[in-house]
Amino acid sequence: MSEPLSIPSVSILGVRVDVVTYRDTLDIIARWIEQRTPRQIATTNPEFVMAAQQDAAFFQTLQQADLCVADGVGLLWAARWLGRRLPERVTGSDLVPMVAGQAAQRGWRLFLLGAAPGVAEQTARRLEQQNPGLRIAGVYAGSPDPAEAPGIVARIQAVQPDLLFVAYGAPAQDLWIARHKAELGVPVLMGVGGAFDHLVGVQRRAPLWLQRINLEWLFRLMTQPWRWRRQLALPRFVWAVLRQGRRAAEAAA
Ligand code: UDP
Repeated sequence: MSEPLSIPSVSILGVRVDVVTYRDTLDIIARWIEQRTPRQIATTNPEFVMAAQQDAAFFQTLQQADLCVADGVGLLWAARWLGRRLPERVTGSDLVPMVAGQAAQRGWRLFLLGAAPGVAEQTARRLEQQNPGLRIAGVYAGSPDPAEAPGIVARIQAVQPDLLFVAYGAPAQDLWIARHKAELGVPVLMGVGGAFDHLVGVQRRAPLWLQRINLEWLFRLMTQPWRWRRQLALPRFVWAVLRQGRRAAEAAA
């Protein structure tokens, strides 16, 4: 159904990550909204890559997604270690306001799904203030619980947005999109993790200087210490990539 992706990609521990910039991503989104065939975007980070090693459904969802951007500096490091290059980090938290800016100019209608009750509404208000003329087709917290899916699908179908952001965290949001994209018929569906929380300040994001020196993950560990178990994925990721690189080098020797 989807056109084959002609952009290059890097395989990190078997998981596909596409070689795109923010600019490329915005251009691809614009093309897909014109074409009107449902396309799925994943904001992949090292936690995704490690989760996909254990979870076959999540692995397959990422392989079949139409675009997987590198949301996580660990992926840029891993690509370099494997002799490839990802041009920049492309985060869900930065893409949401960028896409909203384009949406206001081009008349795209957005639907914001997920996060705690009230957060999607607040995010929509914030985006509308920043982008006069922005058209919000709908907002709903909902839940990734399959029992709620029929009601959520009906809400979205009723307003036919051009773009759907889903903030249920990974892998729930990405599995949810894969399962429902065909019946929803929305041209672009993107999993955005904690992006709404970041935009309205429910969760503080690392200051820019920390992002620039590649320590956003450390800020997250300090401000959301309950994530430590999930963040154990990071040292495991580094170790696995170091081994993948060594195996590849040995195979080439
Ligand atoms: N969330 C939700 N319903 C759920 C579980 C999570 O709406 O059943 C939301 C949560 O409120 C948060 C987002 O999903 O806004 C996940 O954020 P997180 O920073 O954990 O995302 P990730 O690190 O997975 O990208």
